[in-house]
Amino acid sequence: MSRYTGPVCRLCRRETAASKTGEKIKLFLKGDRCLSRKCAVERRGTAPGQKTTGKSRTKVSEYGRQLREKQKMRRYYGVHEAQFENYFREAARVPGQTGRTFLQLLERRLDNIVYRLNLAASRAQARQLVTHRHFKINGKVVNVPSHIVRPGDVVTIGPRSLKSPVFESNLEQARSRRPPDWLEWNEQENVAKVLQLPAREHIDTPVDEQLIVEYYSR
Ligand code: SF4
Repeated sequence: MSRYTGPVCRLCRRETAASKTGEKIKLFLKGDRCLSRKCAVERRGTAPGQKTTGKSRTKVSEYGRQLREKQKMRRYYGVHEAQFENYFREAARVPGQTGRTFLQLLERRLDNIVYRLNLAASRAQARQLVTHRHFKINGKVVNVPSHIVRPGDVVTIGPRSLKSPVFESNLEQARSRRPPDWLEWNEQENVAKVLQLPAREHIDTPVDEQLIVEYYSR
C-alpha cells in the first residue's frame, strides 16, 4: 500500500470532525506548527471538504467508530496498514492485555523514541533522521525506524551528527523538554537510556486501544 502524500493537516481535521465530544484531536504531524496558531485544527476544526460546522449528520456505527480509532492511531504513529496489522497480531500472541501491548509496541519503535526524546520535531523527521544513520543503539548504527527498543538499551547520536545544524536546534529542544518517565536523557553526554517498558499512563496517545482490539477481533 502506498504512503499518503497529501496535506497531513487534513488527517487531523478528519479526526477532530469525527470526535463525538468535539475534542480538538491533534496528530502532531508537523512539528512546532502543531503548537502554534497556524495549526489547521485551531483555525478550523471542520472535516476536509466541509465549510461549516464539520459535524456529520450521519449516525456513526460501532464499526465506524472502531475504524476511525484504528485510522487515528495508525496515522499518529505513521505506520502502513500491513505493518500496523502485524503489530496487532504480534501483540495478540502475548499473554495479557492485547490493546496495551499493541500500544507499547508502537511506542517502542525507534522513530517514536527519537520523537519522544524531543530529538526531532515530528515523527516524520525522526524517521528521516534514523534512516540517515544518525543513531546508534548499544554502540551499533541502526537505520530502521521500526526497530523495537528494549529496557536497558542505550541510544546515542553519532559524533559527526552532533555537529550538524539540525541537531544543534533539536538538542536545544531536548534540553528544554522532559521525556516520558520510561526514558532517560543525559543532556551532558547526549545519551538516552530505555529504563522500562512504557506503562499506559506514560503514553499520551489520544486513542481508545480497546476499540482497535474490537476492530481486529471482528
Ligand atoms: Fe495536525 Fe499539526 Fe496540522 Fe495542527 S499543524 S492540523 S496538529 S498536523
